[in-house]
Amino acid sequence: MVAEIVCLGCGAPLQSTDEDKPGYVPESAVGKPDVLCRRCFRIRHYGEFLPVTVDESTYQAQVAQIFERPGLVLYVVDVFDLAGSLVPNLARFVLNSEVVVVVNKVDLLPERVQYTRLADWIREQVERTRVPVSDVLFVSAEKQLGIEQVLGLVEWETERPVYVVGMANTGKSTLLNAIAGRLSDKKAPYTVSRRPGTTLALSRLEITGRHGRIELYDTPGLVHEARVIERLCVDCLRIVVPQSRLRPRVYQLNPEQTLFLGGIVRLDFERGDRQPIVLYVANDLPVHRTKLSRADEIWERHQDDILQVPCAACRPDFANRRSIRLQRVRRGEPSARGSLAISGRGSDIVIPGLGWIALSGRPFDGELSVPAWLGPSLRPRLV
Ligand code: GDP
Repeated sequence: MVAEIVCLGCGAPLQSTDEDKPGYVPESAVGKPDVLCRRCFRIRHYGEFLPVTVDESTYQAQVAQIFERPGLVLYVVDVFDLAGSLVPNLARFVLNSEVVVVVNKVDLLPERVQYTRLADWIREQVERTRVPVSDVLFVSAEKQLGIEQVLGLVEWETERPVYVVGMANTGKSTLLNAIAGRLSDKKAPYTVSRRPGTTLALSRLEITGRHGRIELYDTPGLVHEARVIERLCVDCLRIVVPQSRLRPRVYQLNPEQTLFLGGIVRLDFERGDRQPIVLYVANDLPVHRTKLSRADEIWERHQDDILQVPCAACRPDFANRRSIRLQRVRRGEPSARGSLAISGRGSDIVIPGLGWIALSGRPFDGELSVPAWLGPSLRPRLV
């Protein structure tokens, strides 16, 4: 039997076929003795984390280590894709740890967001997955906003391990780099090592901070298919995923009008009072308003010129659709079964990965059409 050659840092079998998977090394390094995978090499020599993604079973095996040695868990979520940030089955691994939810990418949120309301909603969504939440912190790892609150927690953790957990693309590596960069004493650079006896262990970073030695563990990012980010090409993502602070876009909508958010979301306003509808989506996402009676024609004939995203190559993934009834009925009138009930105070329709649509709470009867794999939901208005 040929022994598998593994990375000395994380224990992942070395491979040179997929840069995003564990154990990647350039082809020239395969077969050499004492090799670190590219990621461990960069962590050790440049103090830089590169994201790495794994499949669900490998993931579960790795995070099981948190249960064996509980500690502080920093659960990183993307403020624009909370649904896509929830790690499946995380609860069973963190029940004996302290979990702080770190809500990332807040630099993209519009001004005037009610953070307390947002924190309550996030806590509720995470606790629905039975993960106990001890606190919710808002940060921008990239812009280093709010990082002090995280550092203030981590630097005291000299007795138990600190784990950084999150789905791929939530900004976990950016956060780790920010934490490690800010906490470490530059004269005593941190080391990365794997725990003896385990393969595919979590990368461990030891930092000597002001109050002692901190053990920080990185976990791989899990990818899952029900996310916009996994369904679009790079060019489409540039248009659809928010890149800069959102500017609210207000539409005064009349009954029998439709709004298209690219070719991804369609909102039909069938009956109700004329009302403002505010979109909080990427500034570059094309939005088109039309008469309900023309909407099917636009959908069928104008994907490329008016709706623009998804592009022809990405479109097949968006063809299978589902419709959800949306209703804010007048007092005393019943709402239809299975519909999303808009509150009289207004509601946000959250579209994971894209942003949200704020409805005023005036009488509204209509339909929302989204790709079948995307799960929109309602929450109290944030702005
Ligand atoms: P990981 O897969 O969870 O390790 O995520 P990364 O750290 O690689 O980040 C994923 C993407 O999110 C990258 O394109 C980052 O530039 C972006 N990102 C990370 N943090 C922030 C942030 O605070 N604000 C914004 N706007 N983007 C961020």
